[in-house]
Amino acid sequence: MKRTIGFIGLGIMGKPMALNLLKAGHSLIVNDLVPEAVNQLTAAGATAAQSAKEAAEKSDIIITMLPAGQHVKAVVLGENGVLEGAKEGSILIDMSSITPDVSKELAKKAEEKGVYMLDAPVSGGEIGAINGTLAIMAGGKEEIFESVAPVLYDMGETVVLVGDNGCGVTAKLANQIIVNLNIAAMSEALVLAAKAGIDIEKMFQAIRGGFAGSAVLEEKVPKILERNFVPGGPISINLKDMNNVMTTAHEIGVPLPLSSQLLEIFHALKADGLEKEDHCGVVKYYEKLANVEVK
Ligand code: NAD
Repeated sequence: MKRTIGFIGLGIMGKPMALNLLKAGHSLIVNDLVPEAVNQLTAAGATAAQSAKEAAEKSDIIITMLPAGQHVKAVVLGENGVLEGAKEGSILIDMSSITPDVSKELAKKAEEKGVYMLDAPVSGGEIGAINGTLAIMAGGKEEIFESVAPVLYDMGETVVLVGDNGCGVTAKLANQIIVNLNIAAMSEALVLAAKAGIDIEKMFQAIRGGFAGSAVLEEKVPKILERNFVPGGPISINLKDMNNVMTTAHEIGVPLPLSSQLLEIFHALKADGLEKEDHCGVVKYYEKLANVEVK
């Protein structure tokens, strides 16, 4: 079934996700603070909305793909926001990576207006967004999830309802621990190998089929060998995620020793002016410690 979808937040991830919805035949009403981002979507067939409110008024489903919790709160609850415009019975799908407490608060405020909400963050990076192969982890009521699952499949390859509101973003926090610690472990290994003087490309070929093989290794080793740190997932966004991981963990009494060290590594990279680089830039932290470059 083709739907009318409001899409707010057309950045690294939102733009290709919105383009895939257009390709699937849905009608799109788009909004972003950056006019150039909006223009790229209208050129592909979307209609521009002047505000989140207008995008919501004209849609049955509203998708938000924004940087962090404060942006989602402003766009959903703020003046000229989604809840000022959304029709009763419409469905708000927030696909941003935020904390479960903010997500649950938004779901409650939406429900007071007769609007259903799902949290449905994604993993797979820009490349997954472009190819429509994202892993989507959702939280919310089952019947609401079922009613929009085909739309989610237009952007992703695996779409799983994890539980009630907040469960999707919690799964995403867990996902970020695994991805970013993987990158850190890979970085330590690459720096060891580089300083020992072995051929990194040959080492990659030797180990990728074994237990060390991973999506992280496949995507990031070639990037590092090319010294290509264009994001992808920038350090700034992953720093935000690891902050969210630590806050959420501490609120429920979970110490995370490895994640807290990684958070400090991200802060060191930020202090070095590298926060706009891809998160595989973690390797530069280790390179500095060992005075060697992986190439
Ligand atoms: P981005 O910064 O590239 O894009 C965010 C967009 O939101 C920008 O175009 C910005 O102009 C827009 N925006 C901000 N405030 C707005 C407002 N008030 N009204 C309208 N538009 C507004 O971010 P991104 O990389 O696309 O990430 C979006 C979300 O997806 C984040 O929560 C991020 O953690 C998550 N995520 C990112 C990646 C990745 O690899 N980049 C992967 C998975 C998940």
